[in-house]
Amino acid sequence: MINTIKNLDYEEMQEWAVAKGLKPFVGRQLFEWIYQKGVHSTGEMHNISNNVKDIVDIDGPLDLLDLETHEMSNDDGSEKFLFRCKDGNAIETVLLRSGNHYTLCVSSEIGCAMGCTFCKTGEMGLKRKLQSGEIVEQVLLARRISDKKISNIVFMGMGEPFNNYDEVIKAAIIMNHEKGLNIGARHITISTSGLVPYIREFAHLPFQFKLAISLNSANNTKRSELMPINRKYPLDDLLSAAKYYTIVTNKLLTFEYVLLKGINDTAKDAHELIEKLSSIPSKLNVIPNNEVDDRFQRPGEKDIHRFLTQLENVPFAVTLRYSGGRGIHAACGQLYHEVMNS
Ligand code: SAH
Ligand code: SF4
Repeated sequence: MINTIKNLDYEEMQEWAVAKGLKPFVGRQLFEWIYQKGVHSTGEMHNISNNVKDIVDIDGPLDLLDLETHEMSNDDGSEKFLFRCKDGNAIETVLLRSGNHYTLCVSSEIGCAMGCTFCKTGEMGLKRKLQSGEIVEQVLLARRISDKKISNIVFMGMGEPFNNYDEVIKAAIIMNHEKGLNIGARHITISTSGLVPYIREFAHLPFQFKLAISLNSANNTKRSELMPINRKYPLDDLLSAAKYYTIVTNKLLTFEYVLLKGINDTAKDAHELIEKLSSIPSKLNVIPNNEVDDRFQRPGEKDIHRFLTQLENVPFAVTLRYSGGRGIHAACGQLYHEVMNS
């Protein structure tokens, strides 16, 4: 764990200042310099005294990530970044464009312990969890390097956000804070493979963050094969936690469904989805598999549309999404593998 004030939220930064014998407003000034103005060294903080700068510098680094590569896609306007952590590990962050809006897909861990069979990050296993400062810094650096105004955040990069719950929620709070990155809570979405106790806890947060659940099958046996976490938290428990979330928050949630050829794209799969999701206020994103190796294929266009046709007239909205950044191999963990294996 790197000691740095970048792991502190707005209140903690003021407490930190007091603990160092400074006034609380110095903590507030530092917070604004770091997040509103986006500086990542004390040298850029003009109204901060040299004494305070020394205290900050001795306390720990303000730059937690270094840019390794930055690639732009010609086809969909997405950009991908590979950042190097101070311990030498690399993480991936992807900027996605839709119209004039930019969404940043951030990583929450280095690798992932969940082992979903279709996912490249799952293959890596978990190297370590990211600190909140490292999560927020992905946004600070992507904003600075791309010079784009980032209005939405999705926790859909490497890692399982709810396996690193406290750091992820703290990062989301700093992103949302009006003196921080000031990104609307409704524009911050956290995606989970289904860690049931945290879904229930998340429902009670006093913030309007949004929830997505990676479902990928509405059949318990099949889901356990694709997503080992389903053995610990079976489908029915997951769906009752999902329903609980919608009742407590009065909000819709999003189910993600990676469509895998011959695995979860049959008429039976569609019917199981209808049966299980119809009573949950939700929407379903169908994402044709982004092929990462030859174990799982993407269904052809005809089969994708056949699957969607079976989901017509259901009581939840269904959308077809292609994972952004395919042209630059940016989907879920792929960039990491390219860099580490080259
Ligand atoms: N661990 C969290 C968030 C990161 S994964 C989760 O699983 O929800 C983000 C999304 O990428 C998930 O919805 C996951 O199902 C999807 N994904 C993983 N591998 C994929 C692939 N090969 N093609 C398309 N989407 C994929
Ligand atoms: Fe982890 Fe999500 Fe990939 Fe599953 S889909 S291995 S939970 S990153």
